[in-house]
Amino acid sequence: MPKAPQRSSTPAPQRKWALLMALLIVLVAVVVVPYAAMALPVVPPFLPIFATTVTFTEGLTAYLLMVQFVAVRRFYLVPLAGAYAYVATLAPIQLLAFPGVFAPTGLLGGTTQSAVWMWVFWHGGFPFFIGLSLLLRQSRVHAALCQRVSVGQAGLLFLLAPALACALAGLALHADALPVLINGNSFKTLSDSAAGWTVWGLNLAAVALVVLLPKKRWELVSLFLFVAVLASLADVSLTLLASARYSLGWYVSRLLSLVSSVSLLVALIYQITQLYRELATTHASLLRSSARDKLTGVYNRNSFDNAAQAEWLRAQRSGEPLSLVLVDIDNFKRYNDHFGHVQGDTCLHSVAQALAHSVHRPTDMVARYGGEEFVILLPGTRTEHALRIAEEARRAVADLRLPAHAPGLHVSFSAGCASWDANAGFLGFEEMLVAADQALYKAKAQGRNQVWAQQDKVLRPASAYLVPRDI
Ligand code: GH3
Ligand code: MG
Ligand code: MG
Repeated sequence: MPKAPQRSSTPAPQRKWALLMALLIVLVAVVVVPYAAMALPVVPPFLPIFATTVTFTEGLTAYLLMVQFVAVRRFYLVPLAGAYAYVATLAPIQLLAFPGVFAPTGLLGGTTQSAVWMWVFWHGGFPFFIGLSLLLRQSRVHAALCQRVSVGQAGLLFLLAPALACALAGLALHADALPVLINGNSFKTLSDSAAGWTVWGLNLAAVALVVLLPKKRWELVSLFLFVAVLASLADVSLTLLASARYSLGWYVSRLLSLVSSVSLLVALIYQITQLYRELATTHASLLRSSARDKLTGVYNRNSFDNAAQAEWLRAQRSGEPLSLVLVDIDNFKRYNDHFGHVQGDTCLHSVAQALAHSVHRPTDMVARYGGEEFVILLPGTRTEHALRIAEEARRAVADLRLPAHAPGLHVSFSAGCASWDANAGFLGFEEMLVAADQALYKAKAQGRNQVWAQQDKVLRPASAYLVPRDI
């Protein structure tokens, strides 16, 4: 079962934005209340633009919430997505049925009461589903629902919300049996009706639930859900106070309705961009750690194999030299036997770090070849320079003065070097590796703690190439 990602509490800038939006909503509502009933001109494109935007944003929010449910399996997201799908279904139907938009008495063959009853169902259903989601989240059954409900079952339960919207829209289209709420453009009756008070009460309850239900912290979604339900409450309050279509309160309440439908969507989109950022960082750190040897911190064998292949091909194309140094710690078995494997691991780490500090170009690479063997890959470097680096590394390890068991006083290594260049070279990288191994074998045979190279099939010690101060 995938677990919900552990999120820290909402960052301060988002908290400030949510608070600012909430204050703005309250401020707008308070300023508009005294003038709510003021009649304004009918603006024909207003409703289609409003309803289309609401349908799109609520539909998208429902989709994103369901996608989140599939990913994290938190069941409360299903009724929450349902709230948005419910509105996304009712909004376009109400637009079609609204008198004067597509036809003087609206399409779909409704009555004069259809659009207003759809408004009742819309604005009552939205806080109902939000409240259901919040209460479910707090309930004891939530954990069981998260575990037991499959994605398919959740999808079917989610579809109940748009299905209910369709059923209620159908009922509103045959509103003869329902009480009259509107007379012409005036819906004073609605404002004084049980339906109006119920819608208002449901919205108030949703705000109260978001604020009062205990929570460990205000997550981003809770914060913007609060903005959404607050905007919805302000929307309903202004509509009821306006008491007439195309009044100031009626127009402003629709704008608040837009705020309500957009706020959670903005939060979800912000969350997605955050996830992209986290994904990129995790991917980069995974790439970094998968390239490294855990014990020693230098590159691992796999990285070396890939780099060696690429550098070999690059050298063939450019004609630039390529050198390779194989390093093997001397008498390491004895070291382990004497000091134990834990100390042996620490020793491996110290030697590897000394090797890593002996190379300087960005293209140089130190990798653990296996066990107590390391390899240094030196692109654009000929034998003399590679041997100088190997000798420098040998001295760096000696300077660590890591106590060794007899025969040497301190930990040391032997190394074998092979180089490719355009004049004399090997047919393939494998051949070069074998030559470096033979040079290493010779260094061991000659008494260890020394560096040898193989060039033109001849084995020579580093001293044959370097001036004494380099050795
Ligand atoms: P030589 O000078 O000929 O290289 O002798 P040697 O003892 O170093 O060589 P040998 O190959 O016999 O032994 C290598 C030892 O390295 C044996 C193994 O226990 C030790 N070793 C390999 N990998 C690790 C490791 O990850 N941690 C530790 N502590 N020891 C390791
Ligand atoms: Mg070895
Ligand atoms: Mg060894």
